[in-house]
Formats: sequence, structure tokens, C-alpha cells
Amino acid sequence: MRSQGNSQVCAFVSQRTVFANSVRPATLVVSNEKIREILYDVGEDVVRRLSEKYLGIQFYDYGSLVLMPGIIDSHVHVNEPGRTEWEGFHTATQAAAAGGVTTIVDMPLNSIPPTTTLDNLKVKAREAYSKVFIDVAFWGGVIPGNQHNLRALVDAGVVGFKCFLCQGGDDQFPHVSVDDVEKALKELLPTKTVLAFHAEYGQNEKTNPTDDPNVYDTFLHSRPDRLELDAIKLVCDWCTKYNFRCHIVHLSSAECLALIKDAKARGASLTVETCHHYLVLSAEEIPKGATEFKCCPPIRSKSNREQLWQGIKSGTLDMIVSDHSPCVPEMKAGNFLTAWAGISELQFGLSLTWTAARMRDVSFSDISKLLSTNVAKMCGLEDRKGNLSEGMDADFVIWNPEETIKMKFYIIILAVSFLAGVILAYPQKDGQIFSNEAIRQAQNTYLIPKDATIQKVQEGIELAAYESIPGDQRINLFEILGEHVPPEVVNNLQTQIDQIGRN
Ligand SMILES: [Zn+2]
Repeated sequence: MRSQGNSQVCAFVSQRTVFANSVRPATLVVSNEKIREILYDVGEDVVRRLSEKYLGIQFYDYGSLVLMPGIIDSHVHVNEPGRTEWEGFHTATQAAAAGGVTTIVDMPLNSIPPTTTLDNLKVKAREAYSKVFIDVAFWGGVIPGNQHNLRALVDAGVVGFKCFLCQGGDDQFPHVSVDDVEKALKELLPTKTVLAFHAEYGQNEKTNPTDDPNVYDTFLHSRPDRLELDAIKLVCDWCTKYNFRCHIVHLSSAECLALIKDAKARGASLTVETCHHYLVLSAEEIPKGATEFKCCPPIRSKSNREQLWQGIKSGTLDMIVSDHSPCVPEMKAGNFLTAWAGISELQFGLSLTWTAARMRDVSFSDISKLLSTNVAKMCGLEDRKGNLSEGMDADFVIWNPEETIKMKFYIIILAVSFLAGVILAYPQKDGQIFSNEAIRQAQNTYLIPKDATIQKVQEGIELAAYESIPGDQRINLFEILGEHVPPEVVNNLQTQIDQIGRN
């Protein structure tokens, strides 16, 4: 499906190259956007050997910066076409690139039309084409009555399907009933796709007229753990009954961990994601009226957050994604009950999670598994993404885990973050991705390749300071306030964060 890539051979060198079970010095030889050869060594000898073998080879030595597989974020709402002012492909994929995310998977709702038919998928893909800085794949959507459209979407290469078990925020993407799910599952049973659930089920808790809607707890109590528990019980049952691959998006309630652990132990083909914000923020920290923090399901207590970390460490939770879902500022105005539920954090996922993970003894290999390998597997992209091994896509993130930038709500540990894969990409000259052949390739992921030029590489490096949509158009929860914070300031703030982590 790809056009001829750049045949220039390059070598990427790092003392800290992240593999599945180790971090070690390595030199990755890359051509045509693929990892061609890996040498578990660095230095002059390697340079000499490779220079003899590959005429004109170019070396990029990153010293002790961490070189890791590019991040794959399978939960991103790009709202183009229809609501591009919330987030479009151009801005979303730039933000992603700035955060070391080399592939996003676009959610099927909030754009107009939603991705619920093959024709609608084509509309979305056509919009994305030529605007993207990184690879973009798509989810299809299950809504009431569209079960007969699903197989065509599988054949076209969507990574899977998303449905809501409760009312979402988009009228064009209504939630499904138990009956609708059964219909969809029967339709999808012969395929190897995955069905992902927004797992909240049942009636919201009624708020008291005397409760202050500007206080976060009012909102939190309206979306209790019970909603997630009841939904996940259903999902576990379907997963087992149909022996079908199911995925739970944005798990927030740690009360569900036992249920998930049990279903997995019984052999259910179940994967579960949580989000960066559930792992770094807590309800106790959310100021009055700060609707930037509103998302569904809600950010819960500190102790809930610590239990989620336990779930990460024990492998009950498989991956960490953003659920990046921006909107225009007017929709974030008002109070916790009326404001749009969605957080904009695509660019900051690695920084957020690393900041919290490094004080919990999580290794680079684990981070890579949670942010890349396991996501690639869930999306059926594991044959080309999510690991540094020969033959895989040359999608990398190179970053500095010791350096710090100051953020609006957090101290972030991140300095250099860009994707080497772009360096090697050629612009796509024609629209072969839309050829009938490509669309007919069953089980082949419908992946829009990045449209990148050497010039964009330069931009890519600049992108480290880029924030999704310009600040004046967006209320951002996370905002860069300054780079290269003096060490003493970092130490002070780090102590505070450590305390938050331990309380
Ligand atoms: Zn979402």
C-alpha cells in the first residue's frame, strides 16, 4: 500500500535503546522506513563496519537519550470533518508527533459523519489524507441498527469497533442496547476484529439540587464506580460467551480490577486500557470550577489512582492511552455538570506517565510495552509496529527522561521528543491508499501513511514545544510554561509530587 520510500540508509544510535526485555546500547540500521538490521553495539567499530556495508550511510547518534518504539495511541478523537474546530488531523497529528506518538487510531464519533459505514470511513480517510504528520488508523463504530455495515468496515481495514453502553456526547453516535451488542457480535464473530466498549452502564446517580455544580465531587458522585462495574460485568460475559476479542476503553474505577483479573484468568480474550490522566491526577486535587479536568468516566480518588498503578504493575491493565478529546472553549465553560467531558493531552502522554511511573519503579521496557507493544497487538498492528526488531516500521521516539519542563499542573520530565520515522518518509504522491485493492484487502489495516518530507523533520524537532491547538483557541489542562527548569526548582516540586504519589 505504501509508495516507494526513501532508500537512503540511516543508522540510529543510542546507549539506551529499549527492547522488549532489555535496555542496551544499539545501532538500528534503517532504510525504506523499516528497521533493516540491529547491532547490539555502538562505537567507531560499528560505524566503520556499517560504512563499508552501506555506501553513504548517515548516522544519527543520540548518546544516552532513550530510543524507544514510537508511541501508539489508540484512543484519539479527531473530529474532522464536521467539527474540525475541536480538533483536526493537521493539529492532532502534529501534537502527536511532538509527544513522540507515531501512530494514532481515530475514534469513530464526534466527526460528522461518524465512522459507522464504509462510505463514512472513506470520507474520514479522505480528509486525513495529506494532512497527517504521523500514521493514522481508524476505529469503526457500532450504533443501533448498523450491524450490516460492520463486515465492510472490517474488510476495509478498521482496527476494530467502538460502542457506548451509556449515552455519549454525540447525538449521531447513540449508545447500544444489550440486544444491539449481541447482533453486532454475531455479525463480527467470523472475523478477528475487536469490539471496544465505553464501559459505563445504567442510570447516573441523581444530583441533589443543593449540591454545588462547581464542586468536582458533585460530578464525581453522579458517575459512581457502579456504572463501570455493571458495564464490565456485561463485557466479561460477552467476551466469554462468544469467545470474542473485547476491549475496555478508559478504565477509571479500580473497583473493576478484580472482575477483569478473574475474567482474564478464565481465559477471556479481554484487554483493558486506562488513561494518563487517571494515573497522574486525583479528584482531591481538582480545584473548584476547573472543568478542564472533566472527563467520563471521571478522575477518581488518590487511593483509586494507586490501585490503578497496582493494576498496571500486575498486568491486569494492558495499556495507557490518552482519550484525547478536545473541544472549543465555549463548551468547556459552565460548571462540572454542563461542560464538555474530554481532556486534551495527546502531546503529553509519555511525559505524564513517565513522571508518575518513575517513582513507582516502572522500567523503560514496561513503559514501552504499555504505550506501544500492547497497543499494537490490540490493534492488529504488531506485525509492523510496537517493537524494535528487524523488519518493523522505523517509528521511534527519542527522549530525555532526566530533563524537565514546567507545566501548568505538573512537572514534566521531557525534553527531546520527536519521531525518527519521519526523517525517512517520502511524501505520498498519489492516492493509492484509496485504491479498490487496498480497500478490499481483508484484515489489512487501513492505515494512512504519514505525509512527511525532510522539511517536516525540521518542524518535527521544533514540535517539541508545540501544543495541539493554539492556546487562545483551547482550554488546555496541560500547558507548557517553560523549558529547562533549574534543578533546585525541579527537586522541590518533585518532592511535592512524590508526596502526592505516596499519600
Ligand atoms: Zn474517548
